[in-house]
Amino acid sequence: MVTGEQVLNKEILPGVKNIIAIASGKGGVGKSTVSVSLAVALARTGARVGLLDTDIYGPSIPIMMGITEKPEIRGEKLIPIVKYGVSLMSIGFMIAEDTPLIWRGPMVMKAVEQLLTDVEWGNLDYLLMDLPPGTGDVQLTLAQKVPLTGVVIVTTPQDVALLDVVRGISMFRKLDVPILGVIENMSFFRCPHCGERSDIFSHGGGEAASKKLDVPFLGEVPIDLKIREGGDAGRPVLVDDSESPQSKVFMNLAEQLAARISSLP
Ligand code: ADP
Repeated sequence: MVTGEQVLNKEILPGVKNIIAIASGKGGVGKSTVSVSLAVALARTGARVGLLDTDIYGPSIPIMMGITEKPEIRGEKLIPIVKYGVSLMSIGFMIAEDTPLIWRGPMVMKAVEQLLTDVEWGNLDYLLMDLPPGTGDVQLTLAQKVPLTGVVIVTTPQDVALLDVVRGISMFRKLDVPILGVIENMSFFRCPHCGERSDIFSHGGGEAASKKLDVPFLGEVPIDLKIREGGDAGRPVLVDDSESPQSKVFMNLAEQLAARISSLP
C-alpha cells in the first residue's frame, strides 16, 4: 500500500466540489483532447468547470483552447483565463519552455500546489486536471497529494496501450483514488463519404479491459478529422456545433462522467 501525506486537502479549495484527474498510460492517446472536450461539454450542461493543465512534458491545453495570453495576477492571486465557459490554468504558464525536462519533475509538485492554492478558482462543480502521460513518480506524487474525487483513464484500443491502462488502474487503486472510468479514444473511423465504419486500431479493447478490471467504461470517441482540426485551431468541436455527431459523443461522455461522480459513496 502506498501512502502519502495529504498536504493539500479540501480546506484549500473549499469552493471546488470535485477534482477529477484525467490520466493515460502513455502520451499521444488523446488525453488532452478528451480533457478539453469534457471540460467544454460539462460547461455546456450548465456546470461551473475549471481545467488545470499539469502536463509538464507538453502543456498543450492552452493551444487546444485557443489561448495565447498569460493569466493576470490580481493581489496575490492568479486569475484563470476563461474561454468557452471553462476557467483554465496551465503549468505551461509557470515553467519556461526551455526548462530542461529533467528539472521539470521535481518542480511539478511546487508548481501544482501553486496552481491549486494561488489561483482564484472560485466556486466550481468540477476541476478537471490533465495529468502528464504515464504512471511514474510525477503522477504518483500528484495523485497522493491532491484530494482527487477520482480519475478518468484515456486509452487507445491497441493491446499495447491497454497494458499501460492496467498499470495505471493498479496505481490509482493502491492510492485509493476511485476509478471513474475508461474512455477509448480513436476507437474507430467513420468514413465521412460513405458512413462505413473502420476499426483502424482494432476496437473494443478499452471496454473489454474495463470489464476484466472491473472498472466502468465511459464510452468511445472516434478518430475524426474535425476533432483533430478543432484541437489544432484552438476551437474544440463543441464550440461551433453542439449538435454534430462529434459533439454528441463528448456530451454523452460528460453525462456518463457526471452520473458516475454523483453515484460515488
Ligand atoms: P495526449 O494528451 O494523450 O498526448 P493529444 O490530446 O495531444 O494526446 O492528442 C494527440 C494528437 O492526436 C493531437 O494532434 C490531437 O488533435 C489528435 N487526436 C486526439 N484525439 C483524436 C481523435 N479522436 N480524432 C482525431 N485526432 C485526435
